[in-house]
Amino acid sequence: MIFYGKHSVDETDIEAVVEVLRHQFLTQGSVVPQFEEALCQYTGADYCTAVNSATSGLHVACLAAGVGSGDLVWTVPNSFVASANCALFCGASVDFVDIDKQSRNISISQLTAKLENAKRLGKLPKALIVVHFSGLSCDMQAIAEVIAPYEVVLIEDAAHALGGQYQTEKIGSCQYSDMAVLSFHPVKSITSAEGGAVLTNSSDYAEKIILHAKHGVTRDPNLMQGESHGPWYYQQVALGYNYRLSDVHAALGLSQLKKLDSFIAKRVELAKVYQQALAHLPLKLPSVEEFANSAWHLYMVELTHHSRKEVYQKLHEKGVGVNVHYIPIHLQPYYENLGFQAGDFPNSEHFYEHALTLPLYPTLTDAEQQSVIDALIQVLS
Ligand SMILES: *Cc1c(COP(=O)(O)O)cnc(C)c1O
Repeated sequence: MIFYGKHSVDETDIEAVVEVLRHQFLTQGSVVPQFEEALCQYTGADYCTAVNSATSGLHVACLAAGVGSGDLVWTVPNSFVASANCALFCGASVDFVDIDKQSRNISISQLTAKLENAKRLGKLPKALIVVHFSGLSCDMQAIAEVIAPYEVVLIEDAAHALGGQYQTEKIGSCQYSDMAVLSFHPVKSITSAEGGAVLTNSSDYAEKIILHAKHGVTRDPNLMQGESHGPWYYQQVALGYNYRLSDVHAALGLSQLKKLDSFIAKRVELAKVYQQALAHLPLKLPSVEEFANSAWHLYMVELTHHSRKEVYQKLHEKGVGVNVHYIPIHLQPYYENLGFQAGDFPNSEHFYEHALTLPLYPTLTDAEQQSVIDALIQVLS
């Protein structure tokens, strides 16, 4: 079976992890700061905090944004549940903005209209979490312009997009946003097994991110109340979590980061082959944008004339492990219980009903990709 995604771990990665196990601290050592520094270097962001997942990263990003009970956070329905759950973790409410059919990213026209309406109703969101779906950047400059009249904290869920580019900057640069969150889950651009990071250019946000990811405990006298008792002294000044990444995980992430550009180059190459080979089939292929280089986390097609369930089953029978991303968040039972229902976000629902994710990962061979293409041609004809 050819799976839709797969990590690429080699001997140098394994050695990097073993090195930590043999010689260094397993956690709170020097490898996590090295990984954070390397992520700043790569993305161009000023501050980076490594955390144990993107889910934790989204949670602390919301906390740093000041999201709390009574607040509203907006995101898109076509994402993994973590993009919305992070707001609920903070006691806030979630609402969604539907996607654009072409880009599959947040619809900027719907965002504009929804903000105008929310302003009239006095129900503006505290934060907006945009998702660079499948690795293709949202039009961040346009989004920043649309939200500029309102006080909305802009957070990028960049779990799909590390290694991609927007205009002249790498994803994660936070050029137009307040914070960006990365994931190092094995199916993403690079892996640390589990792991994530929060990037920002604001020292104020960085301070809050670190505080909330590390028990709300600080050794910084500037953040303390009253006098320090001595060099051993620390204070808990916020209710934080233990969201630290271990040095074992960071070693894997750091080693993987060195190969990120070659991983992305391979993904780009494979995506190009799909774009050409599938162009004549009854499929809607992913769109490309002038302003972005996709990280090609997922290669997703939409069926225009066939039943998705049938095509999915037939491809699996042929050993092609296609997948489906994502069941719209608002249609999850947990969210339906909060009052959302089918029909609320028709573009996301339509996309979900027709979408198929084809295998795409750096070690997918040309022969394997050709067998995916052949199987798809057979099933669709
Ligand atoms: C994978 C993913 C997450 C969660 O990442 P974890 O590191 O597994 O917590 C969040 N958002 C999106 C869009 C994702 O794809």
